[in-house]
Formats: sequence, structure tokens, C-alpha cells
Amino acid sequence: MALKIYNSLTRQLEEFVPLHEGKVLMYSCGPTVYDYFHIGNARTFLVSDIVRRYLEYKNYTVTLVQNLTDIDDKIINRANEQGIDCCQLAQKYVDAYFEDSSKLGIRSADVHPRATEHISEIISLIQTLIDKQAAYEIDGDVYYRVNHFAEYGKLSHRKPEDLLAGARVEVDERKEDPRDFDLWKKSKAGEPWWDSPWSKGRPGWHIECSAMAMKHLDETIDIHTGGHDLIFPHHENEIAQSEVATGKAFVRYWMHVAFLQIDGRRMGKSESNFIFVHDAVQQYAPEAIRHFLISAQYRHPLDYNPTSLKESSSAVRRLNNCIDALGPYRDVAGDALEGLNDAEAVRLLESINTMRDDFEATMDEDFNTAGALGTIFKFVGEVNQFLAATDNTASEERRSVLSQAYRSLVEVCSVLGIYTEEEVASDAHAALTEELMNLILEVREDARERKDWDTADKIRDQLEQLNIELQDSRGGTTWRILKGAKG
Ligand SMILES: [Zn+2]
Repeated sequence: MALKIYNSLTRQLEEFVPLHEGKVLMYSCGPTVYDYFHIGNARTFLVSDIVRRYLEYKNYTVTLVQNLTDIDDKIINRANEQGIDCCQLAQKYVDAYFEDSSKLGIRSADVHPRATEHISEIISLIQTLIDKQAAYEIDGDVYYRVNHFAEYGKLSHRKPEDLLAGARVEVDERKEDPRDFDLWKKSKAGEPWWDSPWSKGRPGWHIECSAMAMKHLDETIDIHTGGHDLIFPHHENEIAQSEVATGKAFVRYWMHVAFLQIDGRRMGKSESNFIFVHDAVQQYAPEAIRHFLISAQYRHPLDYNPTSLKESSSAVRRLNNCIDALGPYRDVAGDALEGLNDAEAVRLLESINTMRDDFEATMDEDFNTAGALGTIFKFVGEVNQFLAATDNTASEERRSVLSQAYRSLVEVCSVLGIYTEEEVASDAHAALTEELMNLILEVREDARERKDWDTADKIRDQLEQLNIELQDSRGGTTWRILKGAKG
């Protein structure tokens, strides 16, 4: 089956064919680190994560680059408000970004380049644009000359006269054309700066993405993702800068994620109606938030409300219960699947194949996660029905099919990130745990012999907090690991 992606550039569903066979170069616009990120931003980051996971499921090798905008007017203003250094502020929110995104199961990109670490690449890209007459300097500021690029507006599908009307709002008399935008800004007193041929200053926001995508990926990349609000001007400007500099197409498939809404309005910092991921994870399980965020296909609006979150929480619980019930069959070998006689087992095997086919068919249709979830939960119902009719003395045939059901279900859920299989401790780890526990029990036994009850009890209590239960008897002390409580 062929994967199709809706390309914002052509406004069409196109078959995905990467530039280099088997490899995908992908760039995702990351956060501007002046604050925590909200659930609306999370939707965009999560879509990139799922696109990458699904491409890997389809055996592509994906290189994902996501930038961190760590110098910007918002960062400078916020740092001034708080009376701290810009770097300190940016680092605080870089750390928070990684902490919150990993809670949501968003894997780190292969590279997270920071604007402040790529000043020389940015300067040389600006110089190339100046050399090609596509940029000009005035009093230490450098602007992109929009008039130089005939295709300007091709991503946002805006006509030149509309662009002109929009740009007139904040007119800068020094610019040749109101549409021209900053590549380099001369710093004002007290602002951070870097040396450049034009002034002590800092890069504009748009140029950093062009420079870092080219440095860490290539002059032409396969997929570029971002929120819908980045189409104009940010991505339009990325195209203008990159394509004039290299003479090549910058991005082959542009993907844009629709807004998350709250009470029918876009969730955003400007609307002051946002909910930080930071706070949401206190209230709901991360898998439930993930389930909610992918419960609509990424180009469709999605409304954040307590009812939907509750529904997602109970869906995730139903899924976990089903996978837990299948758990005991996890390591059963699949040999008994040849020539099945049990009609019920045959039917479940067919359901497994149908579920996998439908999962791929829906995901191939521009990452339709809503359809994929529907397929998964229909299958959960079928498995539950089968399990209800199967007792502990299940035949080898049934056990084999259940094992297959477990593996297939876990695999598709991992692509969506709504279930993560706990790592089974390796033999080496198990042996080490055994030796460490023997040592701890020996220390505790010595304490008991000295009648040092405080130490003995302290060890017992601390182990209990690690879900390890001790049982004292005349023959000595035994221990066991209690199954961790699931949230
Ligand atoms: Zn960007």
C-alpha cells in the first residue's frame, strides 16, 4: 500500500516518494523557549512524532531535526521582565520542553539544533542572499527582498496584493517593499548580540530554520511539519530564503497541523485560553492526552473539553485491560497457527489480519489516526469476546492466536504511542538484582542480630516504596517484587 500525504504546497493528496529510497529527511519547527508549551502546541509536536513512528513502521530510516528557537524578541522581553539573562531563561524552558514532551511519549528528534549555536551558518546564508541581490542592508539591519522571488506566496496561496495589504500594518519606511522581512536585526542597547559583517545583532526567526535544515539535513528535504499558523509568513519565508540560496526545491511535502480549539476558539497564548501540558499531565494520564490529541485526523479541528478527555481516559483503560489480559500469552510460540481446526481461533486470526490491514490503510490515508483508533478499538472488542469464551485451560491453538493478538495490538499501539511495552528485565539484570537483594538482606540480618531495629525497619520500608515486599520467617527472609500499580 502506498502512503499518501496532503501537501499544503499543492493542496493535494500525493503519494509519498522520498528523494532517496528508504530514507526520509524530516524537519519540524520546534518551540520558542520563553515559556512552557500548551496542549495546542503539543498536538503539532505529537503529529511529527507519529509521522516519524509510522514511517519507521513502514521501514524507512527517518532523520528528524527539530529546532529550538533560543533567541527571539519574546525571550528577550520575558528575560527582562524577570530580570534574568536570556540564556538562563531559554535553558529553563528547553529543559521544561524535554521534560513535558517526554511525558507525552514524544521521542527526541535526532538533532535539536539551537539558533544561538548556528550563528555562523546563518550569517553565511544571509551573505549568499545578499550576493544574489535577494537581500539588502540598511543601517545594520538586513532584509529579504521579496520582489526578487517570483514564486513568493506559493505555499500560502496568497495573491501579491493581499500580501501587500497584510504587510502594511507595521510599515517600516526604510524597507524597499512592505513585504520584505528581517534576516538580521541590529541589537539595541542591553540586548544580546553576535558579530556580523553588518552589525552587532541577532538573526531573524525565519532564517534560522532554513540554515539549520540545510546544515543537518540537506538543501532539499522530504517532509517539513509545523502548525497551521506557520504557513504564513514563517514557512513562506523559509521557502523564499532557501530556494533563492540553493536554486533547488526546499521541501517536497509540507504538512500543517490544524489548531486545537477550546470552546470553539483556537487555543493559543494570544487568546489566553491555553492549558499547559505541564498542568494537563497532573490531571490526566499521558496516554489519555495522546489518545485525545490523535482522536481527530491532524488536518481537522479538535476541541479540548473535559468530556473528551474523560472518554479518552476510559478508552486507554479499556485498551490497557485488554493488553493485560493478553499478557500471559505473550511468549507463546506461534507454531500452532498452521492448520487451525478451532473455528473461533480461525476467526480471531482473521480479525488480527483485518485489523493490521485496516490500520495501515487508514494511516496510509494521510495519517488518519482517528480511523486507526477506530480499527484498534473494534479489535479490542473482538479480543475481549474471544477471551470471555476462553478459560485458563485454553488449547495450544488458542494460546498461539492470543499471542499473535498481543504482539499485533502492542505493535500498532506503539506506533500511535498510546501503549508502551515495559521492558522485560534481561537475564543479566535479573542476576544483578538477585545479588543486590542478597546483599541488602544480609545487611538487614546483621542489623537484626545487633537488635538495631531502626535500621532493619528502614530497609524494609524503603524496599516497600520500591514495590519490593519482604517476608520474615524462621527459615530466613524472602522477597518478591509486587506488580506496580497502573494509573
Ligand atoms: Zn521554523
